[in-house]
Amino acid sequence: MEQIYDLIIIGSGPAGLGAAIYAKRAELKTLVIEREMMSGGQVLTTYEVDNYAGLPGIGGFDLGMKFREHADKLGVEFAKDTVLKIETADLADENEVLEAAEAGAGHPPVIRQVVGKKETRLARAVIIASGAHHRKLGIPGEAELTGKGVSYCATCDGAFFRKKITAVVGGGDVALEDAIFLARLCERVYVIHRRDEFRGAKSLQKRLMELPNVEILWDTVPEEICGAEKVETLKLFNKKTGEKSDLAVDGVFVAVGITPNSEEFKGSVDMDPAGYIAAGEDGKTNVPGIFAAGDVRTKALRQVVTAVADGANCVASVEQYLYGIE
Ligand code: NAP
Repeated sequence: MEQIYDLIIIGSGPAGLGAAIYAKRAELKTLVIEREMMSGGQVLTTYEVDNYAGLPGIGGFDLGMKFREHADKLGVEFAKDTVLKIETADLADENEVLEAAEAGAGHPPVIRQVVGKKETRLARAVIIASGAHHRKLGIPGEAELTGKGVSYCATCDGAFFRKKITAVVGGGDVALEDAIFLARLCERVYVIHRRDEFRGAKSLQKRLMELPNVEILWDTVPEEICGAEKVETLKLFNKKTGEKSDLAVDGVFVAVGITPNSEEFKGSVDMDPAGYIAAGEDGKTNVPGIFAAGDVRTKALRQVVTAVADGANCVASVEQYLYGIE
């Protein structure tokens, strides 16, 4: 009979690895499916994480590596694959279903089929911890000049803009962090924000405002990114004055938020209009046996610490589900 896991975790960011650590300690037969080359998720491209308890100022990459090392130390099993969908397994042989039920605690005899590009795997419970990705501006020139001056990761690409002029678009934590990081390297950094108030943390705002080579353009939106071979100009529109202007820049860092990686699960579980999987702190979705953790679920605060906590909560819910404790 094909192997049946107690739990398959989709994704290896802080939520997925947090869940894996708890699942392994709970002695659940667990598999983590990851599609990226490296575990760690979005935190890998965060320059510095200064609000994770006990590890002040740790590099995002280092934190991601620590999570993975912890999972490895416990012997978590990983597979590289891209999950395409989750289905209810239609096991041909009824005995297989019974055997599968008996292999666990006997509750419930529903086997989920996690269909990947490479392989289909079976599990009695699934945690979706597939995270989120960078939102696009959707303006002319953005797609054409991506990799030619348009970037979504200051920590990855900032070094290419040493002593140059860059613009960061956005007003959340990521935009503020990116601008602070770029100000160390670049001659000048413009922060372009569509309102007259930042969404990002006050502590970051304070640090940003103190930097002499940062200029904030409030109430402003970019309308087009122009350049023949690489980024040369940003066409701007001031929403308050109605004024249009051209800003000469070498690089544009887009930091306008995130979109959940949930496309593959549409139709399998309920989602909100933005595509976040509807689940509370316990990770329970509308489908028994399928749980959601981290940035992919509906929640108020998307942080590394809340993602890790989601992983732990989800495993507690998985145990209740598998052993019939409600
Ligand atoms: P975010 O908090 O959603 O902020 C997105 C920013 O982009 C907002 O300022 C928004 O403007 C602006 N924006 C959205 N669409 C836009 C558009 N089409 N054109 C121009 N501007 C646009 O996203 P984030 O900064 O990527 O952060 C994502 C999550 O990760 C947040 O929950 C954040 O707190 C968390 N995070 C935490 C840390 C940390 O604690 N160290 C670090 C990084 C990220 P409005 O303000 O007008 O909506």
